[in-house]
Amino acid sequence: MKTPIYLDYQATTPLAPEAAAAMRPWIEEQFANPHSPSRLGREAAAAIEVARGRVMEALTTPKVTVTSDCHSGTLYFTSGATEALNWALKGAAARLPPNRRKIVTLATEHAAVLDTVEWLATQGFETDILPVGLDGLVDLTLAENRIDHRTGLVAAMLVNNEIGVVQPIAELGALAKAKGALVLCDAVQGFGRVPLPVHACDMAAISAHKVHGPKGIGALWVREGTPLDALLHGGGQEGGLRSGTLSPALCVGFGEAARLLVERRDADRTHVRRLASLARDAMASWTLNGSAGGRYPGNLNLRRAGVDAVRLLSEVREVAFSAGSACASGSGRPSHVLAALGLSGAEARSSIRLGFGRYTSEEELLRALALIRVRFISDDGARVQEAEGGDGDRLLDVAQAAGQPLEGTCEGQMACSTCHVIVAAEDFEKLPPASEEEEDLLDLALHVTRTSRLACQIMLGGQLETLTVRMPGGARNMQGR
Ligand code: PLP
Repeated sequence: MKTPIYLDYQATTPLAPEAAAAMRPWIEEQFANPHSPSRLGREAAAAIEVARGRVMEALTTPKVTVTSDCHSGTLYFTSGATEALNWALKGAAARLPPNRRKIVTLATEHAAVLDTVEWLATQGFETDILPVGLDGLVDLTLAENRIDHRTGLVAAMLVNNEIGVVQPIAELGALAKAKGALVLCDAVQGFGRVPLPVHACDMAAISAHKVHGPKGIGALWVREGTPLDALLHGGGQEGGLRSGTLSPALCVGFGEAARLLVERRDADRTHVRRLASLARDAMASWTLNGSAGGRYPGNLNLRRAGVDAVRLLSEVREVAFSAGSACASGSGRPSHVLAALGLSGAEARSSIRLGFGRYTSEEELLRALALIRVRFISDDGARVQEAEGGDGDRLLDVAQAAGQPLEGTCEGQMACSTCHVIVAAEDFEKLPPASEEEEDLLDLALHVTRTSRLACQIMLGGQLETLTVRMPGGARNMQGR
């Protein structure tokens, strides 16, 4: 099995082999500038237009309503969704009439939206950040009150990147439109998976690397007639709104990833639902953060009292997952999304995010969820050895497989105390208490402490996420040896 097992699909996704293959000729051979009028240039431009069409198609598959038609707008390629969101917010804000300089968004938006809205506030715009409930969803009655006739723009995401909940974009969009405001949807995490109500949006931002496409490309879809300032001035590419030479390789890779989204939609959805149900069963003692109903199943944000998510992350190296959003954990900022749900600091710190999808196998997922990191520390504390065991494994077997000098061939019958270990205090409390027999045998062992146990009696699993044990003077535990 390939390790680390990748369970961080919201941070990014593996590149689809088909997308990589489609890109290769445009990297290796076909290097013409797609904006040049030469034959080769025109070929590259044509490939870009095919890709644009495929991305447009994926944006509206399946259609939410018969009027859910993205062909009444234009898709502009950008470097990613951060650029698309910055452009949409700043470019549309610059065109808002003087009596509509209010921007409304949600407390759980991505930093690309929240930080841009915060910047717009420094430029004289009025901003209003709507709270969400414990389920992570916006309250539509509250939204109706706060989106008023001074509101020029409403920005909300389709699927939350940290907790996976799906916002009611159709309803929110209808409220905004009724007040005459524009609607921007950050559709990054839902693109191709959760239907986007395009009819309720004026702009939508997406990103290729979240859907098995390459990094460095995304797009902004803009409804025809939406007032929007140009982002980049120069050669006049992308309708004069975003100048700069496009990369045919990136566009073609994005197009192929989008084509696969449509082609594999049903298969991907069935697979992700199955994985989600396995994960929920395996993690039954964890609490789901955010709504259980309205959510994308490939994102599970779970918490359990007593878990230190950051420690777990560094201990379980065989699995790549996240302790909140990748961006938030990178900057050391606590998760603003979990805080917006009303979770306490301790609850947020005991939360992890598991993200899986098309290329995650059931075996990988189950193995990842059962892995428990075991750390063996030598008697003098000088040597530390890391090992991993699955749910139900005996510590003695894990130790022996890792080459630790623990004896014990009793098959659990407890004929000796040679597998005595000293368990770290925080882990000791999570173990079921020792039996009388075990206590009796521990009386025979040397260097026994308050947290001493026999390794043949410790089963991995239960409350244990990680386990640290110290070896008491090697294997010479039995009195007289
Ligand atoms: N919006 C959401 C919901 C995201 O998850 C991300 C990526 O983390 C972004 C925007 C930014 O996307 P990109 O990496 O393409 O800039």
